[in-house]
Amino acid sequence: MITEREAEIATALKQDLNKSQSITQLFELIGLETEITLAVDRLAEWASPRPVEKNLITLLDQVYIQPEPLGVVLIIGAWNYPWGLTLQPLVGAIAAGNAAIVKPSELSEHSARLLKELLPLYLDREMYPVVTGGVPETQELLKQRFDHIFYTGNSTVGKLVMEAASRHLTPVTLELGGKSPCYIDSSCDLTIACRRIAWGKFSNCGQTCIAPDYILCNPAVQDRVVEEIRRTLHEFYGEDPKTSPDYGRIINKRHFGRIMELLKGCEVAFGGENDQQQCYIAPTVLKNVQSGARVMQEEIFGPLLPIVPVSSVNEAIQFINEQEKPLALYVFSSKKQVIKKMMAETSSGGVMVNDVVMHYTVSSLPFGGVGNSGMGAYHGKHTFDQLSHHRSCFVRSLAMESLNEARYPPLDQSRMRL
Ligand code: NAD
Repeated sequence: MITEREAEIATALKQDLNKSQSITQLFELIGLETEITLAVDRLAEWASPRPVEKNLITLLDQVYIQPEPLGVVLIIGAWNYPWGLTLQPLVGAIAAGNAAIVKPSELSEHSARLLKELLPLYLDREMYPVVTGGVPETQELLKQRFDHIFYTGNSTVGKLVMEAASRHLTPVTLELGGKSPCYIDSSCDLTIACRRIAWGKFSNCGQTCIAPDYILCNPAVQDRVVEEIRRTLHEFYGEDPKTSPDYGRIINKRHFGRIMELLKGCEVAFGGENDQQQCYIAPTVLKNVQSGARVMQEEIFGPLLPIVPVSSVNEAIQFINEQEKPLALYVFSSKKQVIKKMMAETSSGGVMVNDVVMHYTVSSLPFGGVGNSGMGAYHGKHTFDQLSHHRSCFVRSLAMESLNEARYPPLDQSRMRL
């Protein structure tokens, strides 16, 4: 489907988020194909019994873990990467032997409609139906009993999903968001750091769950950071990002309004140009932002990049630890001590040093949040494991009954000690 229908998928994403064909390839489809190929190649190995360590009294037995399907999985996707975020969990659900209901986000409506049309042409329609719709449809789905719910989206709805799941004791994976900090140590190569950060932040117009949400850096380097990002953005998107094929749009007018509200009262270093009609907001950097600012109270999920000045790595760590545990944490430094300290004294779903976002592409790393940024993790074998039951299996023969005598009454303390 991905290969044959790539052009249609790209058109839908262009309509939903102004994604270009190359961006669709790079950010949605390549990763998806990698996951499918991996699952096909490794399925036999993943699904095999996994022998575990034995002790003296189980030496003659077979003791192993057998992954088995959970049953029916409900996959609720988000709109920012509407194909990747619904189909990647589906790959693992299928690999693990489950049936699955796929519920794409109604906000990326063109993609949702196309997915509903295409998926039944390629997969068994009864095993993997697509249900489209908004909040009422999702709420109706959530009343049903599932064997697992895999939800990607914001934390507020995550809580509603978990509440609904609890009524049936259904386990959940919650892939949520939050404010992912990015610490720039004054020691690092600012040109390279800012280039990588600008790419991760402004791709898909800032609507990426692991985009750096804000920068923490020393006031002494703040102006250089601003300049480096400005220069990079000019190189990426030209004089007017509005005309660049590689610069996206905000998903809808509601989110456009929400992001513009966050700008109020901030010192704009550059950017801020906008066009409500086109849901366009230029890449924007904000400087001297204080922790109390509105833009620091919620996940931005848009192309605003606040810089919060901090005087030291200790202050940066304290700042990070005062917030909810983020989905991703980024550290840019050429000093091993700083990197080690930052990693040891903070917690986050994932941490990346001297780059952003790329940890998402490594299938062998579990991708997921911690605390407010989510629970459970996926990608590659981790999706298979997340959507399997790990059944404990202990297989013993009826022979050698004498070995069991010590556990039967009447109990004899002296024999039990042996
Ligand atoms: P969204 O509004 O599309 O919601 C996600 C899903 O929840 C949709 O299918 C929607 O129909 C459903 N939904 C919305 N309100 C509901 C309600 N009241 N009851 C039941 N279902 C409801 O997406 P969003 O939440 O705006 O997505 C953005 C958020 O998702 C950000 O916080 C972002 O960080 C996070 N996100 C996380 C990941 C990740 O992998 N961890 C990936 C992408 C996005």
